[in-house]
Amino acid sequence: MSLSPDREDFVDPDQPPSRPSSVLSGSGDSFVNYSDGEEEDVESPAPLNPRQVASTLRRDNSRCILCRKQDGLQVYRLVGQDNDDANPSLLWLQGFKFIPAHYDRDNIANLMTLCDAHVATYRARVWRLLPCAEFRKGMLARTPLRGDALQQRNRSASPQLTLPNAQSTLFDVLVFLPELMPPLSPTEPASSRKSRKKGKRAPPPGLSPRVLPSLLSLQIDPYIAYASALEMIGKAYWPPPDEVLRLLEVKCLEIRRRWNNSL
Ligand SMILES: [Zn+2]
Repeated sequence: MSLSPDREDFVDPDQPPSRPSSVLSGSGDSFVNYSDGEEEDVESPAPLNPRQVASTLRRDNSRCILCRKQDGLQVYRLVGQDNDDANPSLLWLQGFKFIPAHYDRDNIANLMTLCDAHVATYRARVWRLLPCAEFRKGMLARTPLRGDALQQRNRSASPQLTLPNAQSTLFDVLVFLPELMPPLSPTEPASSRKSRKKGKRAPPPGLSPRVLPSLLSLQIDPYIAYASALEMIGKAYWPPPDEVLRLLEVKCLEIRRRWNNSL
């Protein structure tokens, strides 16, 4: 019997857990860290219906939508990966009728095919997709471009149709945490090399490695992508946004403000 337990046996309730609880809790200098978290993935709630996975892979040509890799693929939700169907972003968009009321987080419009590295970094909010400038003009005017189109399509479409939208939208890629961003498409490093070769010349005004305009044409829902981008837009992150990203954030927050004020 011991009245003074060994210090090492003492469990301090304030002590952090021995396992890192976040993918970003490592040094952050290597993506190998991300694959260490496989046990965490087991804890992820609600696996996707295999039919939705197959449909999404088929739609995305079984490639990561960002880097075109064909191995280590996962189908990942744009919003609501870690919470239930009462997702605030989806409810927000449904409230404005920008997306159909029947959309849940497992709708293919909310799914994308990604490689392991881009899943880990999407999850860590390193990057987000944003509908291109032309589409955002309509969003700012609160013109439910896709909403109208979808409602008409739903009226005429057969009820068994699982692919609600064959339309593609052009997306920008926003890089909030550039130091953690894995390489993008094969064209991205090539253009970086090119600009480096040119050497001293400053990048053209308006170009930024943090905002890659109209990089991808995708069949995912642009409104959902926008709502997902709001998870980082206007938030605290390092390094802070450059001028291009900062101006884009202002425009995106203005869309949100106008929608909310329209009620
Ligand atoms: Zn990828």
